[in-house]
Amino acid sequence: MNLKEHIRVVPDFPQPGIRFKDITTLLNNGPVYKEVIDRLANHYRGQGIDLVAGPEARGFVIGAPLAYALGVGFVPIRKSGKLPGETIEAGYDLEYGKDKLAMHKDSIRPGQKVLIADDLLATGGTISTTINLIRQLGGDIVGAAFLIELTYLNGKDKLEGIDVLSLVQY
Ligand code: IMP
Repeated sequence: MNLKEHIRVVPDFPQPGIRFKDITTLLNNGPVYKEVIDRLANHYRGQGIDLVAGPEARGFVIGAPLAYALGVGFVPIRKSGKLPGETIEAGYDLEYGKDKLAMHKDSIRPGQKVLIADDLLATGGTISTTINLIRQLGGDIVGAAFLIELTYLNGKDKLEGIDVLSLVQY
């Protein structure tokens, strides 16, 4: 199955010059969406993963079904101000814009093996912030899984020491 055929590329969204990779067309197709989750789950099964963590919102769309497929818990990483419990926070730059991410302090116990999941690796800003937060809580990051990697933005360079898997590259 060629996953790229199911991803819509939208020029000049959300800003001129950005070629946005729209995964809603892929998510809309049940067998293709299932294939994405199955491929990721097959890769990580048997590695002793305790938790999958994903940043909102599209990290939930990949991370939550992946956690379900692996039979482990899911940790939502949210924009600042959304989580009701005690949180830790970190700021970061996006491919287009700035933001702050937060996690519940009690969402990961020291030594737990955590897999990070998101829809797309661009500059790596989102995921390096996610790594920073998980490490603050003592989580042991086993890898970072993406549906898409924009290799020309070299996001991988920001994630030194982390094993990166992406199913589709541009
Ligand atoms: P990064 O922090 O620069 O790696 O950007 C990754 C985040 O931005 C991901 O959480 C994506 O959801 C979002 N993002 C950036 N570019 C695109 C795109 O072309 N399509 C969909 N999401 C994108």
